[in-house]
Amino acid sequence: MVRLDCSGTELRSTFGNGSLTAKIGFRIGMEFDSGMKTENAKPKCFWRTELSHRSRFASELAVVAFQLPIAVALFCLPFAPFSYALAAAGVTDRAAGSPPNEDIRRPEVARRLFDSWKQPFKPFRIAGNIHYVGTAGVSSFLITTPEGHILIDTGFADTLPLVLTNITTLGHDWRRIKFLLASHAHVDHVGGHALLKEFTGATVCLSAADAALAARGGRNDYSPFAQEVMIYDPVKAGRIVRDGETISLDGASLTAHLTPGHTQGATTWTMRVLEDGQPMNVVFFSSLSLVEGTKLRDNKVFPGIVEAYRESLAKLKKLPCDIFLAPHGGAFVLAEKLARLQRGERPNPFIDHNALKEVIETTEKALATQLIISLPKN
Ligand SMILES: [Zn+2]
Repeated sequence: MVRLDCSGTELRSTFGNGSLTAKIGFRIGMEFDSGMKTENAKPKCFWRTELSHRSRFASELAVVAFQLPIAVALFCLPFAPFSYALAAAGVTDRAAGSPPNEDIRRPEVARRLFDSWKQPFKPFRIAGNIHYVGTAGVSSFLITTPEGHILIDTGFADTLPLVLTNITTLGHDWRRIKFLLASHAHVDHVGGHALLKEFTGATVCLSAADAALAARGGRNDYSPFAQEVMIYDPVKAGRIVRDGETISLDGASLTAHLTPGHTQGATTWTMRVLEDGQPMNVVFFSSLSLVEGTKLRDNKVFPGIVEAYRESLAKLKKLPCDIFLAPHGGAFVLAEKLARLQRGERPNPFIDHNALKEVIETTEKALATQLIISLPKN
């Protein structure tokens, strides 16, 4: 008799007949570091072979050996959407090729991830008057007008020179930036805000919650990344934007949609552009990525985090979106779409009516999965 058990986190095959029973098995599932709170626990796959008695039935062993990889694949399947969500949302940026299954709570792991995002990237015009001027793994979007420019996200402080060089390469003057916006007030998106505000005198426009975080220089946030890698030069917002408010400059008009979750004040911006004579709805997504270890339960900094995610997802579902852009290239398949654009593909490959929908679906799955992972153990 050969039997395959799948009970919770343990898979085991037993075989034998009556008095002689041999067991070979392995365990795969959640492992929680002792002393760590459940909601911070990191699921960890592992396997172990236990051979309590050598079977005399070689043929049965062969059957079990055949079953094991299938069982592993079946068990890991439910976690696939979660990993994918992190990648799609730019947490483990597919384009940047961050190593999987590493604990980003460790400062050196986070720094390595950030370093991979800091590589130079050639700037280009995306559509209308919107330009990509960011680095390989962190987006910065420049919206140009004859009266001056609007910049969404400056990136890290130490990659600001790359962003400014990119703007110059495209023939624009970064000193004419009038408004500095943000997807959300994390170090990789507003790290250069204080410096660029000083250089240009531009008005920093943030939601109230992100303005508070930016004024603290990223301190006391609920991100599971180590605080030492998340802090930046504090910056004071010159204008607080509320839901539905617009920032306008010479015909360019950007509307703020508060989509809290990844930060308490994360803001999705929308605008309309003409591309090949056609009006297009552009969405600059705030990010709703759920970094592994984000406290969904008993979050002292943001008690309503789960409801916020749900409300933000519901709000995003109502947004018309022809061109979807995001704070990390991996989330809008930057490299692939750019390659198609450079091959001369028309219509513009950045026109993608499904991208926002796909990100919403992936985030919904990630939220459901992480809620299950963060369930109390008993
Ligand atoms: Zn972030």
